[in-house]
Amino acid sequence: MGSLLKKNEMITVEDITDSERDSWIEEIASICESYGKFLALDPMLVFEALESKRTFWYPNYYHKANFPDLEGVFKARDINDLLKKIDISQGFRCPFCKAVSKSPYKCDSGIEVERGGGIIKCNWKSYGLFNTLGRGLRIMLTDNFLNNPFVDEIFYPVSLETNNARPNQFPGKIDAQRAKTIILNGLFRNRSPKTLK
Ligand SMILES: [Zn+2]
Repeated sequence: MGSLLKKNEMITVEDITDSERDSWIEEIASICESYGKFLALDPMLVFEALESKRTFWYPNYYHKANFPDLEGVFKARDINDLLKKIDISQGFRCPFCKAVSKSPYKCDSGIEVERGGGIIKCNWKSYGLFNTLGRGLRIMLTDNFLNNPFVDEIFYPVSLETNNARPNQFPGKIDAQRAKTIILNGLFRNRSPKTLK
C-alpha cells in the first residue's frame, strides 16, 4: 500500500505504547468533533462513517494527509452548488506560473517555465507532492462527505480572486462549455483517500 507519508512517518503496531494509543484516540475524537461541527453533524455519526470506510490501521488513516484541518476549507453541498459558487469559465490560477488554467488540477496555461533545469510548458499539478503551494482552494462537498470522506485541493478559482488585476492573465477567452466538461470529468471524481493509492 502506497502512502503520502514519508516512510519514517509510518507507524507500525510494535511501535505504539498505551499512552500513544490514548493520544491517538484523543486525536481521532478531535477530528470527528471538528468535522462534525463543520458538517453540522453528530461527531459520533462522523466517526461511524469514517470507520466504515477505514481499510487500514487507524494511526495511518486518521492522519492529516487524509483529514486535514478544516480552516479555510470551501464548503459546497454538491457539484451543482459548487458550480453556482465558482464561475469556472474564468478558469483557475496556477500556483506555479500564475497564469490561468482551464483545468483546476493540472496547469494547461501554455506558459513556459523553468523546471528541472529546462524550459517546459507549465504542467503543475494540484495533486502533486507540493499540491498548490498553499495558494489553492481546498473544498469539501458536504452532502456526500460521509460516503466519500475526502477534502479536495484545486487551483484557486479566478472568479473568487479579490484582486482581478493580477499579471499574466490568460490572454484569450475560455470556452465555458469545454471548461465545464473538463471540470466534470476531473473534479470530485470519486477518489479514495490518498493513502489507498
Ligand atoms: Zn502553470
